[in-house]
Amino acid sequence: MLTTIGLEVHVQLGSKTKIFCGCEVLFGSAPNKNVCPVCLGLPGSLPVLNKQVFYLGLKAVLALGGEPSTFVKFDRKNYFYPDLPKGYQISQYDHPLGKGGVIEVMAGGQIKKIRINRLHLEEDAGKLLHDQSPDSSVVDLNRAGTPLAEIVSEPDLESAEQAYEYLTFLKALMRAVGASECDMEKGQLRCDANVSIRKNASDPLGKRVEIKNLNSFKAVKAAIEHEVERQSLAYEKGEVIAQETRLWDDTRQKTFSMRSKEEAHDYRYFPEPDLVPFTLKKEEIEKIRATLPELPKAKLSRFIAQYGLSAYDAGILTQEKEEADFFESCVKHSSPKTVANWMTGPVAAYVNAKSISFSELGLKQEWLIEMIKLVESSAISFQAAKEKLLPEVIEQKKEPRQVMKEKGLEQVSDDTQLMQWISEVIQANPKVVADFKSGKEAAAMFLVGQAMKKSQGKANPIKVKELMILKLSQTS
Ligand code: ZN
Ligand code: MN
Repeated sequence: MLTTIGLEVHVQLGSKTKIFCGCEVLFGSAPNKNVCPVCLGLPGSLPVLNKQVFYLGLKAVLALGGEPSTFVKFDRKNYFYPDLPKGYQISQYDHPLGKGGVIEVMAGGQIKKIRINRLHLEEDAGKLLHDQSPDSSVVDLNRAGTPLAEIVSEPDLESAEQAYEYLTFLKALMRAVGASECDMEKGQLRCDANVSIRKNASDPLGKRVEIKNLNSFKAVKAAIEHEVERQSLAYEKGEVIAQETRLWDDTRQKTFSMRSKEEAHDYRYFPEPDLVPFTLKKEEIEKIRATLPELPKAKLSRFIAQYGLSAYDAGILTQEKEEADFFESCVKHSSPKTVANWMTGPVAAYVNAKSISFSELGLKQEWLIEMIKLVESSAISFQAAKEKLLPEVIEQKKEPRQVMKEKGLEQVSDDTQLMQWISEVIQANPKVVADFKSGKEAAAMFLVGQAMKKSQGKANPIKVKELMILKLSQTS
């Protein structure tokens, strides 16, 4: 079965105030603290477009490589829900702020272009709280009027992994140009996925199912995987796959039917009469374009050319701006290859294991340089440095040299101590020793590994290898 996925991502634009009023955009305030007649939807109140929101949206369009619309117009999207007091959402229908653009993902070792259909500006709705009272729900309108950019991809994604990569790059791009922080825990990036399956590439696209309530990149991946399996099973049984909206349940790791899918005409879109359309001059667009920083893709090419990095290493290092800046300041004091090895190896492994971002790590540039120097001067083995020293330095927030001494992590090069570990290993592994004697040279490497383990990674690996071969040749 072939899978087709399109993503609709709502990104919260990072303005200080809301899109159509002067209320501050704050996270975690007491309910209904940051509201005014406009975002409460009181009759007679009038919206005014926030200039900062507009420019951030424009930056987002340009970062994606899209074409900004020179005719700027807003529309009303009508629907009823208790968290939407006006009974409509101000959005953009036939003239989105941006059209087109592309995000590149890695698919099976190759670069695949995912086309962007559109980016439009809109306001967020409020929030229903169901846990404040046992027999009723509470409406919190702090979020109403929060500025959003809705970014819709073409159905070019073919797997859950590609969807995950797309989101990772989209987030990096939005952060790089300062359009949004994309902090998912604060709801600054929300994603809906449209998933369909078909037997052959020549078949028309299958009925699409929209999945909502995807609150993390991991949830997006798991939900798509689950949904593809559910649809494939239904297809095999000869069942009809309904066009519908389903909700992802993160606890039960399943999707559930929510409602049959609505069509655009159900929303009875019409022009927003309270916001006058205006035209944007080409020069103004170019002025904004000139303020854009180096984008991740350009940075990636530069890292490969300037520092001789592999595409893989450069890809990891340029995803987050903080990480790229960190790398560039470190290479002033050490070789690019060594710094890259540390950052894409042990540091990346630590970041992944803790499920945090590089910027949340709190690793100082001088600490990494010092660790590199300690390994280069044989004061510590690379193994002990990456497995023991690095986590301790990060957790204790102390200088590597001091931590190394306190934890007794210095590399052991003393022959007597090394010989003791080696003898113990040889005694404990008679079978492997016999293998070595019968000509299996690889057996020696296993024994070296065991001796390193015995030393808790502290032994000087080059000396251990030398002494091991010596000792084995003496053992009968
Ligand atoms: Zn307001
Ligand atoms: Mn929307």
